[in-house]
Amino acid sequence: MINHLITQKNWQTQLSEAISSIDELLALLGLESLKTQVYIPEHFKLRVPRAFVAKMRVGDANDPLLRQVLPDKQEQIAVTGYVSDPLAENEQNPIQGMLHKYESRVLLTVTGACAIHCRYCFRQHFDYNANLPTSAVQKDIITYINEHPEVNEVILSGGDPLSISNRRLFAWLDTLESIEQLTTIRLHTRLPLVIPERLDNELLEKLAKSRCHLVMVIHCNHANEIDEHTLSYLKRARAANITLLNQTVLLSGINDDVDTQVNLSLRLFTAGVLPYYLHMLDKVAGAAHFDLDERSNIELYWSMLAKLPGYLVPKLVRELPNRPFKVPVDIYETN
Ligand code: SF4
Repeated sequence: MINHLITQKNWQTQLSEAISSIDELLALLGLESLKTQVYIPEHFKLRVPRAFVAKMRVGDANDPLLRQVLPDKQEQIAVTGYVSDPLAENEQNPIQGMLHKYESRVLLTVTGACAIHCRYCFRQHFDYNANLPTSAVQKDIITYINEHPEVNEVILSGGDPLSISNRRLFAWLDTLESIEQLTTIRLHTRLPLVIPERLDNELLEKLAKSRCHLVMVIHCNHANEIDEHTLSYLKRARAANITLLNQTVLLSGINDDVDTQVNLSLRLFTAGVLPYYLHMLDKVAGAAHFDLDERSNIELYWSMLAKLPGYLVPKLVRELPNRPFKVPVDIYETN
């Protein structure tokens, strides 16, 4: 724990002061010797907020939070089956900035920016510049939703939708709330974990007043991401009547053992968050070294079932291209 990195600064300042220098990151953690293992690709640089670094253990090269953000030479290795668009999202993109993969939900990539760059991110090669829902296409998006009465939910994603200003975010919320057929607005975000101050009063008050069900799906991979400070902000979001769910990606050497998964589910529950999905890694180019074989994942899942109450066991799924739902992993195959 690096106490001097914990600040009371507002979220915008913390966002602008995120660490992008590998030398600075390694020096803060006393891990300068790791520099020889680092490779930083041009398309996906190092980025990590100081508040997240503060939760890492000094001197521990295997810290599970560090491993998620430390660019590694293995990212350069081309592995068969690991591609730039693993979910074929380019084929499910009827309007610039909008994906329609599942019947009742559409997803808007409202920004390409994230507070943190997770090395396993399946959208790390996504061409955000050519695919943002700009004001020029906003009308087309509304028309599309109107013409698809089966759509009742819009997911704000990205990038991270909470990395845009409240002004821009509220404009989106107002627009979506004015579309009568929509009942639910969902935010997919990692910001509450990496800069908890992003859940500021202005945002929580706005979300609490929404006429739609407000669902926030956070993305937490390890219990160490939820320190007491983060916990207090998540509890405030819960108190604002926001449904809080979590999705986790199974990552080799980071969270692929039963104790880590059990601790994560228990910690999430303490914070008022229910475990929702446990994802097998999407096979994106540059992330093969995080992947695990399916059999190990299934064995881990059986162990979780034996240790956790059912409401704290996330669904084990794999996302496959052109399937109308996330595919439940067949856990009976090996048992
Ligand atoms: S915050 Fe989400 S979208 Fe951004 S890099 Fe991490 S996993 Fe990808």
